[in-house]
Amino acid sequence: MKKIRMILTMATLLAGGSQAAETRPLVIAHRGASGYLPEHTLAAKAMAHGQGADYIEQDLVLSKDDVPVVLHDVHIDTVTDVAKVFPERKRADGRFYALDFTVAELKRLRVSERFDAKTGERVFPRRFPAELAEFRIATLEEELQLIDGMNRSTGRMAGVYPELKQPKWHREQGRDLSKVVLQILARYGYATKADACFVQCFEWEELKRIRNELGWEGRLVLLIEGDATSEDGTNYDEMCTPAGLIKIAQTVQGIGPPLGRVVTWSAAGEAKVTALVKDAHAAGLVVHPYTVRSDALPKRCPSMAALHAALFRDAGVDGVFTDFTDVTRAWVSAR
Ligand code: CA
Repeated sequence: MKKIRMILTMATLLAGGSQAAETRPLVIAHRGASGYLPEHTLAAKAMAHGQGADYIEQDLVLSKDDVPVVLHDVHIDTVTDVAKVFPERKRADGRFYALDFTVAELKRLRVSERFDAKTGERVFPRRFPAELAEFRIATLEEELQLIDGMNRSTGRMAGVYPELKQPKWHREQGRDLSKVVLQILARYGYATKADACFVQCFEWEELKRIRNELGWEGRLVLLIEGDATSEDGTNYDEMCTPAGLIKIAQTVQGIGPPLGRVVTWSAAGEAKVTALVKDAHAAGLVVHPYTVRSDALPKRCPSMAALHAALFRDAGVDGVFTDFTDVTRAWVSAR
């Protein structure tokens, strides 16, 4: 008996944070509990776990020493004090890039709520104050360890939802973001479709490469923009047709569209559901739209309750990205 228990413990340890019990719909913590703490800080991830997130998101870019760090953009001048600490390190375009700094250098920067790099104006004025507390940039491994640790200490499993940020741009800079990230994920027990992990990306060509050339066997999600096409040539409008969805389902397991492709709002504030979720389900794809924000509701949408009802009850989405883990968790758990 003791031996069996030991073997089971070993298996759990080796599996890392994988195989979360999955009930639908999923509450996905967008950049952590970013409505309450600066996005992508470990503090925001801990709060999201405590608030009952099913999955916690990591946006990923590479540092100069090839380490994936958890940041929403390849630029670091909208969430850190880099312009003060390393004023001479901007590129010709006036921007500061994570790729030009080692992890040790990135660790010297203070992270704050997102602001406009030119005006200094905060994007969400009512969120965590700029002047209080100290936050730092985290690496992917630091975050995976934090989530693994919280899964064990609380007994409540949260999965991971890494996004590869601009892999085409990284390759143009001579770097292979996807390869580095997938190796780390595999090392932490995220490698197959049974594991509690979705890898997401806006670039269709990169997702095909991940599946066909890099041999990734885990779940993939194609992110979809509101615009018809993207810079890398991905035609989102075409992919959102019934035929397009059937085609992409050969490579990915789900799509992440903006809210506006799933539900629109009339002048009277009534929800109108599009055909996207129905068509995606017919193709065998899950749908995880982005982003639910109580301080930035879609135009004409009257409330968070109305938004949640439209997405979950009317449209039948399989999960949502939310800045307010607790509010979305409460809505889902009440039903
Ligand atoms: Ca993201």
